[in-house]
Amino acid sequence: MKKYDYLVVGAGLFGATFAYEAMKRGKSVLVIDKRDHIAGNIYTKEEDGINVHVYGAHIFHTSDKKIWEYMNQFAEFNNYINSPVAVYKDELYNLPFNMNTFSKMWNIKTPAEAKAKIAEQIKELNITEPKNLEEQALSLVGTDVYEKLIKGYTQKQWGRPCTELPAFIIKRLPLRFTYDNNYFNDRFQGIPMGGYTQIVEKMLQGADVVVSQDYFKLVQSGKLNDGTEVSWGKLVFTGQIDEYYNSCFGPLEYRSVRFETEKLDEENYQGNAVVNYTEAEVPYTRIIEHKHFEFGKQPTTIISREYSSEWKPGVEPYYPVNNDKNNAVYQQYADKAASDKDVIFGGRLGQYKYYDMDKVVAAALECVAHEFN
Ligand code: UDP
Repeated sequence: MKKYDYLVVGAGLFGATFAYEAMKRGKSVLVIDKRDHIAGNIYTKEEDGINVHVYGAHIFHTSDKKIWEYMNQFAEFNNYINSPVAVYKDELYNLPFNMNTFSKMWNIKTPAEAKAKIAEQIKELNITEPKNLEEQALSLVGTDVYEKLIKGYTQKQWGRPCTELPAFIIKRLPLRFTYDNNYFNDRFQGIPMGGYTQIVEKMLQGADVVVSQDYFKLVQSGKLNDGTEVSWGKLVFTGQIDEYYNSCFGPLEYRSVRFETEKLDEENYQGNAVVNYTEAEVPYTRIIEHKHFEFGKQPTTIISREYSSEWKPGVEPYYPVNNDKNNAVYQQYADKAASDKDVIFGGRLGQYKYYDMDKVVAAALECVAHEFN
């Protein structure tokens, strides 16, 4: 029988940060993951010299200097700045919504002209307090940008009409009246040179790590797949909180993503790491060309088309669907979790929150501060 202070379920960024900090404080940690590899959705895999973002594009960005320095302990970051472009039918626009977008859309030059155009488009709508994503988007950028660059993309990504989605989702994107295509407003941004997996590898040094291990099977049998009997003091669970509680308050909804990845015998397929396809008729939401995250010069390239779907058992959950209905159900789980002293929930699935990577690390560090105060 091997006894650990902590069992961490899920070797993603939350679990790995927690494990690293717990080990620094002399605790013994067992980390398990049901996948056959570590690093959760930030997992990258090298192919033909290109680091493939296997579970979708991950661009690290933060305004928190402490979090930036924390991550830089584990990898050196390059100076990549995310500047996606959007394709709508035969038109191409810069993202996020900025003067380059507006100038192309309306053939105008100045911020005053762009603001006047937006004001003219929304004056009839009389939106005072946006109640949903559609109203929020319209009130920020007007009808043209909404119809061409937001409506179709959002409905594909979320599988729900924009009127049934929370406004905060669109507020993730900067809106600027300057000619600046940086997708983020954060002070620090980059991609770890050599990929993300090495970060998690370093964080997990010193822990016992078992992949292809289902938590629920372990709990039932008390044994790992190889027969080792294990026990632990406290659990850190980064899977779906509703699954942990056997869906006792009903299931939570998630969105899933599927990637069709292709190797192409050409050097540069689309000239950018991220190209969004914003019309509803194109079945995928975006195409990622992985080499551009690290300014790759390889003779061939790898691209991934990203398709969104509703989550169902057997596929990977990626995004919580934080509408009012799900948030109310989640609250019941969160209340139950608060009185459950032997388990800590973390990450996008454990806390049912649309976290960015920097916020995951911040949340894990907060949790550590609370746990080891
Ligand atoms: N969005 C959009 N058009 C785009 C890109 C994003 O309407 O071309 C909206 C969409 O509603 C999306 C949200 O902005 O869900 C947030 O986009 P982000 O790129 O932050 O999503 P993520 O990279 O997390 O999937």
